[in-house]
Amino acid sequence: MMFKQITIIGFGLIGSSLARAIQKHGLAEKIICGDVSQEVCNTVLSLKLANAALTDLAVSVKGSDLVILSVPVGKMGEVMEKIAPNLKEGAIVSDVGSVKKEVINQTQKHVPEGVHFIAGHPIAGTEFSGPEAGFAELFEDRWCILTPQDHTELKAVEKMTKFWEACGSNIEIMGPGHHDLVLGITSHLPHLIAYTIVGTANDLEDDIKSEVIKFSASGFRDFTRIAASDPTMWRDVFLNNKEAVLEILQRFSEDLTALQRAIRKQDGDYLYKSFAETRDIRSAIVDAGQADPEDMKLIKKTD
Ligand code: NAP
Repeated sequence: MMFKQITIIGFGLIGSSLARAIQKHGLAEKIICGDVSQEVCNTVLSLKLANAALTDLAVSVKGSDLVILSVPVGKMGEVMEKIAPNLKEGAIVSDVGSVKKEVINQTQKHVPEGVHFIAGHPIAGTEFSGPEAGFAELFEDRWCILTPQDHTELKAVEKMTKFWEACGSNIEIMGPGHHDLVLGITSHLPHLIAYTIVGTANDLEDDIKSEVIKFSASGFRDFTRIAASDPTMWRDVFLNNKEAVLEILQRFSEDLTALQRAIRKQDGDYLYKSFAETRDIRSAIVDAGQADPEDMKLIKKTD
């Protein structure tokens, strides 16, 4: 057993997947659920995902040697403040939030002496929410990024590394600001674009809108999957990764304007070159084991 008792606060998709992974790999003697929703607590107990489920978050961390915060990014500071007085000396507190700099800013001031805080982010998820949506294999062969600070004890970082590895993840350590910029382009911007495209379709007149839904077999359907993601989680991501998202968005707008100009000027060479280059990125993602190689076989070679 890696830990005697683990408390997971926020038992949604990520929290409940972690509980399932902990159970599957036998990483703790006891799992405690802390969630403000009584309904979530009842579901967690009926699914046998935890030994106890409490709506009183402060009580839920008593005696735990690992506490994982899995609530929306905007709630991390508030939760940390609530649980701080009951944290055990030597305990590790970590989180799974999709933004790192702001989560550290919000939580750091409440971390008591003798408790180790290590921010983390599993790069794994689906568009579904809640305790029923989780599954133990969610983190397998996925990256988990840890963003310890200069003062974080090495032993605690090693323990969290082992924990995520036992859940099936590969670990990368980086600075929180760098994390936010990288995830700004790979995750946050794509979600913003998906929300915009689906929102634009939603604003169309009723007759066109029904045809968009009817003929949505191609790209639009993939955007609707991403745009079905939890609105609370994504509102908090954009409010808390404002700087990086605005910077990436500025670059994106410039590139979009260049494509717009090429279409207006009938510049086929520019369009072809841009589209051929982006195909290489897809191929690199498949080579890195982050997408199904079968997909690549379907793509006709350009040169
Ligand atoms: P989720 O399925 O919506 O679960 C969040 C859970 O936290 C819900 O049970 C929610 O209860 C509970 N909660 C909300 N506010 C709380 C509070 N103040 N105290 C205690 N519990 C609270 O969300 P999720 O997808 O698991 O996301 C959780 C975290 O993981 C977020 O920080 C997100 O950025 C991060 N993350 C998500 C993904 C993804 O793809 N979904 C991937 C990586 C990381 P209610 O239902 O009653 O609101």
